[in-house]
Amino acid sequence: MSRIEAPRDGAADDTGAAGAAGAAEAAGAAEDTAATGDLCDRLLAGLPADAVLTDPDITASYANDMASFCPAGAPAVVVLPRTVEQVQHVMRTATELRVPVVPQGARTGLSGAANASDGCIVLSLIRMDRILEINPVDRVAVVEPGVINATLSRAAGEHGLAYPPDPSSWETCTIGGNIGTASGGLCCVKYGVTAEYVLGLDVVLADGRLMSTGRRTAKGVAGYDLTRLFVGSEGSLGIVVRATLALRPQPPEQLVLAAEFPSGAAACDAVCRIMAGGHVPSLLELMDRTTVKAVNDLAHMGLPESTEALLLAAFDTADAAADLAALGALCEAAGATQVVPADDVAESELLLQARRLSLNALEAVKGTTMIDDVCVPRSKLAEMLDGTERIAEKYQLTIGLVAHAGDGNTHPTVCFDAQDPDESRRARESFDEIMALGLELGGTITGEHGVGVLKKEWLAREIGPVGVEMQRQIKQVFDPLGILNPGKLF
Ligand SMILES: Cc1cc2nc3c(=O)[nH]c(=O)nc-3n(C[C@H](O)[C@H](O)[C@H](O)COP(=O)(O)OP(=O)(O)OC[C@H]3O[C@@H](n4cnc5c(N)ncnc54)[C@H](O)[C@@H]3O)c2cc1C
Repeated sequence: MSRIEAPRDGAADDTGAAGAAGAAEAAGAAEDTAATGDLCDRLLAGLPADAVLTDPDITASYANDMASFCPAGAPAVVVLPRTVEQVQHVMRTATELRVPVVPQGARTGLSGAANASDGCIVLSLIRMDRILEINPVDRVAVVEPGVINATLSRAAGEHGLAYPPDPSSWETCTIGGNIGTASGGLCCVKYGVTAEYVLGLDVVLADGRLMSTGRRTAKGVAGYDLTRLFVGSEGSLGIVVRATLALRPQPPEQLVLAAEFPSGAAACDAVCRIMAGGHVPSLLELMDRTTVKAVNDLAHMGLPESTEALLLAAFDTADAAADLAALGALCEAAGATQVVPADDVAESELLLQARRLSLNALEAVKGTTMIDDVCVPRSKLAEMLDGTERIAEKYQLTIGLVAHAGDGNTHPTVCFDAQDPDESRRARESFDEIMALGLELGGTITGEHGVGVLKKEWLAREIGPVGVEMQRQIKQVFDPLGILNPGKLF
């Protein structure tokens, strides 16, 4: 493989009448305006003026997250509280006036889970962005929900600690959003996902009461695990206003290896050999030929376009070079045509940057993408890749595939022109067929992006009617009026 180059061409890191129909409509609009006015007056009684946004052009810009094909409504108002008390005031007001509330972080979500509903209060937590404590003895961080993931990682690093969950969007997404979606990332193959790091939460409930869950101790089993229930609840049970997160000692800098394969099947065989061999890489990512080309087209990084599948693996161990050599030998045994360890940390970082650019690069192919998030048992990864290729052929579409291969978590990314109705229809159908394939292989429809609006119909297919009914009952306990992020999940 030739030398990898820094991205160029400004490629950003991953980081987003009433008319004759008449009088009735006009009266309805007038009523709406009056209701919105009343809502805003009530909100302003407990929030500063600059925290209540009503300009329709501005509120409209808060309507969507980054998922395609997800309907969004027009918010009545956007509020940007800075304190827990202000969030409580918003929820009390919403309960009294029966107004839906949609919590939002940075809106980088990929399932429409942060999309506004008509007439809702968008409750953006981005101004609650303080790191309140980092404690090296307890190995915890206490943060507000609007803290950016990468900001926390860097702050923990200053204490010799690490906050491992690292979604590719880590430079922009928030801890509140990470908790809302139970997000994963590149290093989760070794260190696990967000759920494993959330020890305790402060949550404002639908009626404005404040509840604390969990603990800051190393262990604790007092009562039901409500903390875990909130992780991945997509803003449907309460508003996270504070989180106590576990930290780990910072590992040594990781070294990355790139291996080129003549087929996706060979790359998946290497993944199986690595995992069955007891290796614990700090990262094991896969990019297919379409994705490699898209990253080169976007950022001119000199990735090898002749390869069918590029595997990136890393170790952050004391002797990373030796561990990478052993892993490289397994890749060669699986048929790798080239195995190239990065020379140093800087080159390793460039390889990771290429991986983090993947979704943006695939979006540039046709202007729009639908990103599947199917996670299968690792042993079924090759079948998942093969099946995705067949689906791309069947629907005559470009589907690039990137995967957190070590977790079996694939992101088949359907590239399409949203202005072309036929292509859009085929994109949606192929997107669904990929989820059906994942379920057939014993997987899940979503490894880390959540259900949101995009996969609502699919939740019942995965967990069954009894599962859905129990989940609805849980929602009823926390949100009897149904005002918290309605229309998401089920
Ligand atoms: C380029 C790109 C790469 C990505 N890579 C990854 C990846 O590697 N791994 C991964 O898991 N995801 C990835 N994502 C998806 C996305 O970044 C994550 O889902 C992220 O966790 C969303 O955070 P956010 O702050 O943008 O939340 P939002 O999108 O604003 O919200 C997400 C959900 O959380 C809820 N929510 C937000 N804040 C709160 C709160 N304080 N209390 C209660 N509920 C709340 C919202 O209602 C919504 O349901 C990627 C996205 C992009 C655009």
